[in-house]
Parts: sequence; C-alpha cells; structure tokens
Amino acid sequence: MMKPIYLIFVLMSLFLINSACFAQIPILNTYDSPFPKVVAPGVISQDNGVAAPSDAVSLFDGKDLSEWTGKNGNPQWAVHDGMFTVANGTGDISTKKEFSDFQLHIEFMHPSDITGEGQMRGNSGVFLQGLYEIQVLETYNNENKTYVNGQAGAIYRQHPPLVNPLKKPGEWNAYDIIFTAPTFNADKTYRTNPRVTMLLNGILIQNNAVIYGCTTDEKIFDKLKGGIKLQDHGCVVNYRNVWVREL
Ligand code: MG
Repeated sequence: MMKPIYLIFVLMSLFLINSACFAQIPILNTYDSPFPKVVAPGVISQDNGVAAPSDAVSLFDGKDLSEWTGKNGNPQWAVHDGMFTVANGTGDISTKKEFSDFQLHIEFMHPSDITGEGQMRGNSGVFLQGLYEIQVLETYNNENKTYVNGQAGAIYRQHPPLVNPLKKPGEWNAYDIIFTAPTFNADKTYRTNPRVTMLLNGILIQNNAVIYGCTTDEKIFDKLKGGIKLQDHGCVVNYRNVWVREL
C-alpha cells in the first residue's frame, strides 16, 4: 500500500499535469475578440512589381524623392522611368521618417551592362534604422566571388543569406524585410537584440536572425527609432516600389 505522503505527491503531480494540458488548449469559437484589420494587398504586376498595400506608407511613388534626405539636403540621386538610381559620390540617402518595428518592401535592379567584381560589383545597401545593413550586391548564381556574409541578402558581416535566389542583372529583385527593433537596458546595452526575418524574391533568406550590433563594427547605439538609409557605394543600382508598414 502506498504511503499517504506519496499518494498526495502523485495526486498533486496528476493535477499539475492536467492543469498544464488544459492551459494549452486554445479557446475555440471566440467571436467577441477583435477581428484583424482588413488590408487590401497591393497589385503584383510584371512591369511594376509589388505595389503598396492599403495600410503602407509609401517611401517612393515613382515620381520623386520627397520622402528622403541626402548628405546636403535634397538627394541628388536620379529619378527616372518610375525608379531612382544611385548617383555615385553624392552620398547615402535616408528617409525623413523614422521607424521602430516595421515591414519594409524594396525592389532593386543592377544594370544589365554591369561591370566590376567582388564588393565593387553593384554594391549598395539597405540600412535598417540607419545602422544595420542588408547588403545589396550583384551575386547572381554565386558567380561574383566575395565573402558569403557580404553577398546580396546578407546582414552585412554577420549572417549570410540562407539561400541565393537573386535574379540576374537587368531583372528586378524584391526584398521583404521584417525588422524587430532592439530594446535597451539602463546601461544602454541590449536587453533584446534587433532581429530580422526577410525574403528575397519571395524566398526566406533570413529567419529571425539576431543582429549583434551596428554592421560596420557591432557597436551598440541605443536608438529606439531610425530612418531607412540607402547606400552610395560608388556603384550603379536602381530602386523602386519602396514602402513600409509600421508594426
Ligand atoms: Mg553595401
């Protein structure tokens, strides 16, 4: 016969196990919860890429760079044919608006007559909060040899992309980036690191990747919000269809 103390222990264990199981059962048929907001997706077209959904903030509508600032005021990058192009030597450009957590869509294309190799072949970059670079580089089919965490879709010098679905020069590529901003301790170190999930041409290339710090030197800046910065690395790169959804 089991001693009473053991019996109590067994009964308590069964109670706790059952409680844990019940706690994990989702509540079904809750019609009183708020419904998710209805968002109309953007139209996808062969010529114009993915248009912004109804709740997005457009950062480039194909006409001007009024949402951006350059090194000395208005950006000097060229707007033409519904796109804009890096003007070498004029410096990076940044959005006037600043963001914390967001979903960003941005399309880029290298010219079909591209030249250069390594890090000088179509280099640009999308800096999240102005600090964390998602590399833009012409690395179609892994033919342009460079370090793996410096190729297209890399979180620069921290994480190479999981796969390489980049299209060839002359064709548009699309980044869809989901960014979770960092939080900070009182001493300005990370309480939670920034994180990135992203798709290139609809294919997952970063899966909730942890960012260690600024991608130039892993220094930590205690910024809660920041603009989206595009890099002038001395190479010709075209951009279009830039929009963001704050999360
Ligand atoms: Mg770059």
